[in-house]
Amino acid sequence: MQKVESQIKAVERESVSLVRNMVRQFCDREIAPEMMKWDESQEFPISVFKKLGALGLMGVMVPEQYGGAGFGYAEYITAIVEISKTDGSIGLSLAAHNSLCVNHILLFGSDEQKREYLPKLATCEWLGAWGLTEANTGSDSGNMRTTAVRDGSDYILNGSKNFITHGRSGDVAVVLARTGPLGVSGNISAFIIERGTAGFTSGKKENKLGMRASETAEIVLNDCRIPASQLIGKEGDGFKQAMKVLDGGRISIAALSLGIATGAYEAAVKYSKERHQFNQPISSFQGISFKLADMATEVEAASLLTYRAGDLKDRGQEVTRESAMAKLFASEVAVRTANECVQIFGGYGYTKDFPAEKYYRDAKLCTIGEGTSEIQKLVISRSILR
Ligand SMILES: Cc1cc2nc3c(=O)[nH]c(=O)nc-3n(C[C@H](O)[C@H](O)[C@H](O)COP(=O)(O)OP(=O)(O)OC[C@H]3O[C@@H](n4cnc5c(N)ncnc54)[C@H](O)[C@@H]3O)c2cc1C
Repeated sequence: MQKVESQIKAVERESVSLVRNMVRQFCDREIAPEMMKWDESQEFPISVFKKLGALGLMGVMVPEQYGGAGFGYAEYITAIVEISKTDGSIGLSLAAHNSLCVNHILLFGSDEQKREYLPKLATCEWLGAWGLTEANTGSDSGNMRTTAVRDGSDYILNGSKNFITHGRSGDVAVVLARTGPLGVSGNISAFIIERGTAGFTSGKKENKLGMRASETAEIVLNDCRIPASQLIGKEGDGFKQAMKVLDGGRISIAALSLGIATGAYEAAVKYSKERHQFNQPISSFQGISFKLADMATEVEAASLLTYRAGDLKDRGQEVTRESAMAKLFASEVAVRTANECVQIFGGYGYTKDFPAEKYYRDAKLCTIGEGTSEIQKLVISRSILR
């Protein structure tokens, strides 16, 4: 029995390093040469995601029977970390597609819905979006205003969803809407809506500080009629489903944060050895080397929390607290590490000739998306005090 277990672990390690090597090569070839152009112009490089689909990374955890790679969180976290070391924007879009849209259908969709949508999403024949947030309800998403009213064998949806990753380019969206009176989160339901459905359009695309190559746009629903078969699970279960989806999603934002922090840390170490002032490398100054020590320690701790949350999730355990802790800590580490990275690069860190400024801009999203740091503390403290 022991032998079998250790063989399984060896296989797991092999698949993680396989993913790591594959993604590294992909980043060098397909992302690094173009990323500053995408960032400057806010171009969403859809072709990159089609290629990631061909590598199995748009359905990392989708079982093979639905066309996915059938991996667990260790491989998924590793893929996001490696991509985000190079470009957080691509990491964010990869995370949103896999963790939110795909995972919502995977966790709560009917077998028919899974067979219909997961193979297309896992290969990125279709790109996915997920709409919970509205202009007036972000942290307080349970108070959403978008409605879905039953009409015979259909639902008619009205409202809009704000800040949606792939709000324009997404071919299919999981959208949360109210199916009963306002103020009761139990009255929220989840629906799958395909692009091209009458009344389903996109609004404003956000012009952002960072993560500029990840598309963030409004989804508008105007008398959007969809068959009742597009409801995910039972009417009224949508909010509970969304919170479960976010439990996993927060692990992916922790991975995104970890990737940005690792990239910023590694860039800072390299630069500090190359840059000379006062006839010596700046790494020889304790003021710099102690910063590197702090960065290394925090990145390591963020990594442990992130992989631990993923490991628990793979074992089928509740991870509401653990994923919130990983997301809270790793995202704050990403911001601190990117800040110190700019400092170590000095004036060059403030220019676009070096990667420091981009890490700095991209990192900030991690303390906001999929629940702000304050909301993570709310989730953690509730679980401690209940
Ligand atoms: C780039 C990007 C991509 C995104 N992608 C998606 C997506 O794909 N799908 C989706 O549905 N959403 C998405 N979002 C939305 C994101 O999840 C929300 O922006 C986030 O949850 C915060 O909501 P808000 O912006 O309305 O801020 P608010 O909720 O208005 O918060 C403002 C401030 O008040 C604080 N605050 C609020 N309530 C409390 C409280 N109870 N206690 C203490 N402090 C509190 C917050 O922490 C924050 O500091 C995205 C956002 C961005 C920027």
